[in-house]
Formats: sequence, structure tokens, C-alpha cells
Amino acid sequence: MKEITTVRGRLHAALVSQQILIEKLQSGLYPTEAVKCFCGAEEGILIREFDRYGIPHRLLVCEECALIRATPRMTPEAYAQFYNNEYRRINSCQARDELQLSDEAIYEQVGGQRGERLLAWLDEWAIDMPKVVVDWGCHVGGMLDAFAAKGCETWGIEIDQAATDIARSKGHHVVPTIDDLIAQGVKADFVIMQDVIEHLCDLNEVQKVSQILAPKGHLYVWTPGFFHDDNTEGLFQIAHTYQFCSRTLEYIMLHMGFAEIYMDEDIKSLWQWAGDTPFPKPEKPQEWVEYITDTIFKRENRRVPRFRGVCKFTPKLLYSNVQQNLAAKIPDIYELSGKSSGDVIILGGGPSVDGQVQQIKELQTKGYPLLVIARMYPWCALQGLAPDYIVSLDCSEEQEKSFTHLQPGVKYLLASVTRPSLIQMLAGEQCYIFDSKENDKMRAFRAQNGYEVATVINAGGSVTISSLSVGMNLGFTDFHVFGLDLMVSDKNQTHAKGIAGESITFDYVEVEIRGEQILTTPSFLEFAQQTLDLADAGHQDGLLKSIKFYGESLMNRLWDCTWHEVSE
Ligand SMILES: [Zn+2]
Repeated sequence: MKEITTVRGRLHAALVSQQILIEKLQSGLYPTEAVKCFCGAEEGILIREFDRYGIPHRLLVCEECALIRATPRMTPEAYAQFYNNEYRRINSCQARDELQLSDEAIYEQVGGQRGERLLAWLDEWAIDMPKVVVDWGCHVGGMLDAFAAKGCETWGIEIDQAATDIARSKGHHVVPTIDDLIAQGVKADFVIMQDVIEHLCDLNEVQKVSQILAPKGHLYVWTPGFFHDDNTEGLFQIAHTYQFCSRTLEYIMLHMGFAEIYMDEDIKSLWQWAGDTPFPKPEKPQEWVEYITDTIFKRENRRVPRFRGVCKFTPKLLYSNVQQNLAAKIPDIYELSGKSSGDVIILGGGPSVDGQVQQIKELQTKGYPLLVIARMYPWCALQGLAPDYIVSLDCSEEQEKSFTHLQPGVKYLLASVTRPSLIQMLAGEQCYIFDSKENDKMRAFRAQNGYEVATVINAGGSVTISSLSVGMNLGFTDFHVFGLDLMVSDKNQTHAKGIAGESITFDYVEVEIRGEQILTTPSFLEFAQQTLDLADAGHQDGLLKSIKFYGESLMNRLWDCTWHEVSE
């Protein structure tokens, strides 16, 4: 039966449903229960007592692992009734009135568009089209429709009976719980959890996905990330039993045995099951308690959390570059590995280098080799500096501009993902190649092209940081680092003179370091953290004896460049 209501009528229906829900909660018809955190903690910091509609909904931030959970919350049985009775009425689509469509039709359309986008994203990620796909929380089967159109066998898990009937009428196999899929022996290459994990009563249910995943299958998890935007209000609804930021989701997924393939702060994420091979349990991301409560309580001065950077190029493009570059049979950087020693000068692209030319020249007269990021190659020519090494990591078109005038005697160290056109521009020069990631695909490409060794150098987010790794790989132990500024002294001058901008978005943040206000960006803060981590790891592995940062740099303010032994 089609339900026809006016806007006012529907608004009224939503309010009535809210009122009914409140009464059912108060009368105990929908019983509630107190729950511990995923990590086992019993307590937490109270952040909300009502959801965005004024329905009683108590939320705590766990003081140990920073996960936000509802407690007490409805029992799983009460939630099941709530999803069948009030949930859709309270959260009815506003678009319905404009489009004159039923909620089911809208959800089908929205789901279909999401399915199309997800398929496109999988293609960019160079992930094969799944043969069997499961959508946990498939509702009317909108996303499954998109996969079925590509020939996939489609399965859904859905608690809402009316939605289940619609999905089944289109040929999707739909069951009420993941246990039913396990019992039927379903093995999927791809499992979708879109807007689902934040609704679960027991997060350990996610671990059951391992029982329905085919070997090398992928689990896709999307949930509204706490730091997705400044407005956290929309996140708080009674249907959400948990709320995540990327670090708390990472903690939970790793704990259950999933390995991260991709995750951003939104949160869009991709996982593979790794639990069959034992690995250490992750540490609780306790430091995020402060970041979350600062944001919720809108504190004036906040510590800025370490957000996730994401690669701006698609894996499909990167793999295509790797295939072409390896086919050119350039020697692996292994031929140079460990052959150098002592001091090296690393040149990044921050504006402070303009005032450091004399200092760099003095270090060069001591015989220290100069290792330069590709973007700074033309700057070196302008300053009369002769580089010994040029490192190229990036596959942006801008890279080509760096290689129009080649100096003699330079060794070019190229990530295998760099633009294949560079290899042509550098024909006849001394080029060496390295990989920036390792997986089955990369190993296959190497084997196809007859490589006996493959050097993998962790690339991090910035070519200057990667250059530190490259320098350590070559055998250098004492680093003189220029142009890793990671701070903004002048908003109009963010790069060395005459150097085109990197594709970093400049959302400025002001941070306080030992009483001094420093203007920087979230990306720069992430790079600073990566640099500290890399220096620490290099030092522990005996690859790095000393490192010094020159010029106006955030690094100088964060660290005095000496290692302090931590006593037990
Ligand atoms: Zn916890």
C-alpha cells in the first residue's frame, strides 16, 4: 500500500514516532542495558544525554581507547523492534517530498548511486570485480543492484522485514543475520558495510566477516567519521550505538584481525583478513580522548590530532606507471645501497632554503654529497649548486618541468610509480629505481621484468621525508636537512623562490609550541610526525647517527635533534 502524506503530515508522523519511542523507552517496553566498551573499560566521559531529536541517548567517550559508545542503550531485541517500527519514520528522507517518491524508492536510488560510486572506486583501486558480494545492511538492495548489473552474485543481511521483501523480489539473497550466511557457507570476495558498523550492538560481530570472506577478499567499511566535518551534531542519533574516528576504528579492526588497505578520516576504509597469522594486538589510541572531548566541548585551545593523509593518485594509475617503468629495465637502487657513508645534505622545497645557499655550499666544500628532491633541481641550477642525487617520487605532471635541464654526473633515484615520461627524458643518464610499496601485484611486476631484487622504501607523505629514507638506504648516517620547513612564516611565500606549489591544501592551523605560536597546516603536522617517527626508527636500527634541520623549520621547534635515552 502506498503511503501518501503531506510534508506537514510526515513531519507530524516523525514527531509522533519520536514520542512513541520515548514512551516505549520510559515504560521499559524497549528495555535498555548498560554495556562495557569494546576494550573492556566500564566507565567513560559523559558527552551527551539526548540525541539530536531530544530522545534519551547517553554517550560516553572511553577514557582508555577513545571509542564513543551509547550506554545504557536498547537491548538488541529492542533495537530490532525499533528498526521495524520507528527508525525509518524518524529518519525519513527529506527528498521524498520533492521527488514524490516513496522512501523505499529513494533508498533504492541512493543505494544504486552509492553502488556505482563504489564500483568506480574499486576500479581505481585496481581491485578485481568481485564474483560474490555481500551487503551487510542492504535495506532494499540499492547497492546490490549495481553489483548485480555487473554479473555479481548478490547477498544481503537485513533486519527490516519490509525492505528484505523488496530486495528479495529483485533476486538478491537476503538473510537476517551474518550467522545465517556463515551457516549457508557463503564466501564473498567483497563485503560491504556502508552505514552499518555504527549501528551494531556488538562490534565483535564484525570479526564474523572473516568467516564469509573468500581468501584475499576485501571488507569495505564506511561510517561517518567523527572528524569528517566540524558539525558533529548530525552524528548523534539513537540508532548509532558507536561513533568512530579513524584511529578508534583502526584499533577495533586491528584488534579483530583485519589489516588496513585504505582509510581516510571520512571514514571510508578497506580491509583484508589477516587474523590467521598472529600479530601483536594494537595499542589503545588513548591520546584521542582529548582530541574528541576538546571538539565536543568546543574548547578554545585544542591539541591538533594526527590526521590521515591520503594519496592523491589512484592505485590504477600508479600500477600502470610501475608496469611501464619496470619494463624499461632500470637497475634497482640496490646497486647503490650501503655503498655510501657519513654526511649527506638533503634539500627539500620550503622557502627557508632561499636564505641557506651559502651554508649548503660550505657543506658541499667539505665533500658532503647533495641529495635533492626533483622539484628543486631547477632551483639548484639558479643558485649554482651541483646536485649528486635527484629523488623523484611523485607522478604529477609538474615533475617533468624539473628535468628539462640536466646537470652532468647526477644519479637519478626514481620511485617506480613516477611518470614513465621521466624515464624517456632521462635516457642515457644514471637512473635507479625503487618501489614505494610491497604487495602481490608489485612482486608479480618485478618477476615479469626479470628483477632478482626489489628495494622497497617507505615513501610517507612528502618527497623530502622519503629522501631521508633514500639517504639511509644509500648508507649515509649524518643528515643535514634543508627546506623541510613544515611551517608558514609568510602566507604569500610557501615555497622556495621560482618553485611551483605542491598540491598541498593550505588549511592553516596555529599551534602552540613551548609558548610560541606557529602557523602551519594539518598536512605539515602529519609530515612532522612522520619525520620524527622515521628519525626514531632510523636511529634504533643504527642507520641514523645524527640529523640537523637548517633554517626556519617546525622540526627545530619540535625536537632538539638529539636522542634522549629513556630510562626504565
Ligand atoms: Zn574503550
